[in-house]
Amino acid sequence: MRWGAGSVSGDMTRTAVLALLARRGPLSRAQIAERLELSPATITASTRRLLTEGLLVEEDPRPSVAGRPSIPLALVPASAHAIGIQVAGEHVSGVIARLDAQVVHGFRRDFDPAAPDAIRTLTTLIRAEVDEAERDRLPISGVGVAVPGIVEPETGTLRMSVRLGWTGTPLAARLRKALGVPVFVDNDISAITAAERLYGPGADDADFLLVAIGQGIGLGMVLDGAPYRGAAGAAGEFGHLPILPDGPLCVCGNRGCLETQVSTEALLRDARAAGILTAESGLADLDAAAARDDQQAVSLLNRAGELLGRALAGAINLLGPQTVVVMGEITALWLHLSEPFHHALAMHLLPAGRETRIDVRAWDEELIAASAARIVLGAPLAAPRQKG
Ligand SMILES: [Zn+2]
Repeated sequence: MRWGAGSVSGDMTRTAVLALLARRGPLSRAQIAERLELSPATITASTRRLLTEGLLVEEDPRPSVAGRPSIPLALVPASAHAIGIQVAGEHVSGVIARLDAQVVHGFRRDFDPAAPDAIRTLTTLIRAEVDEAERDRLPISGVGVAVPGIVEPETGTLRMSVRLGWTGTPLAARLRKALGVPVFVDNDISAITAAERLYGPGADDADFLLVAIGQGIGLGMVLDGAPYRGAAGAAGEFGHLPILPDGPLCVCGNRGCLETQVSTEALLRDARAAGILTAESGLADLDAAAARDDQQAVSLLNRAGELLGRALAGAINLLGPQTVVVMGEITALWLHLSEPFHHALAMHLLPAGRETRIDVRAWDEELIAASAARIVLGAPLAAPRQKG
């Protein structure tokens, strides 16, 4: 398994072994080596360390066809935990996840990223979770923080976030210093993509795309087994694909980006301008309008589905993935977007792209925070582990 630098914290073999066991349950060393396409010697060395740390246990030997009984290795789910944080435009949400990736605690707080002391507020908020975990005697491996914006993978510095209004913020370094535990900061879509590659159904695909559509549109790419992030961590800005000459102004400063037409924000803006929705109504009302055959709503969603299908056909023709995962708040409207979307895809895909599987997933509000936790679960524990 190849992996780009900085995509997950720490030693990749360690992370991959832990994620595989979380996904598949107990496996022998030989099975782990085979599934991860790594040498038996590498797996033996890596699992020896994990056994010593108490993160794995050997189960009773099982008879094997090869003759020698095989010894399954299993995770010790409560032996490590990670805190995952999503910093969004108006709130911060978080989870605490166990080593087997199960979420054991979730929270959500209002947050104003424009406030002068926003980073101090964020630190205090995370500190409270770390303290609570320590009070509950949960061994914490680290904190993963997912932000909307461009993050330098090696340093966890947020280069720019239009949605948060933050520029050149050394977020990982500041949080690490204040919290005294390992902190890993990544772009929100990159975090979901890395977590999907390790823990999700996409773990078995060496080439997949993940399109997340909400207020903005992001694209995660796993190519030849490794997340692709571009030269400066800025790849995947699918929302800023130019599609309309002289279209509406985008948050990026340009005009006519895909995001100005297909994001949930764009759909709500257009539906309000057309009088389909009032200022107070939201996506559920747009869904209801299309369901009762309001022609304006139907045609708005037809157009969005068609534009998305066309844009995605371009990305599939370019990159040739096995699977494309579509997720985000927009999937609440999928009943109405699906047909024009698939029609546009069929029109524009080259023959080789027609085998690509499209996997549309219902949106999970906790996914970004849970993904942020998953990318640090394999990190070596922050504090010395207590014995017996
Ligand atoms: Zn743009």
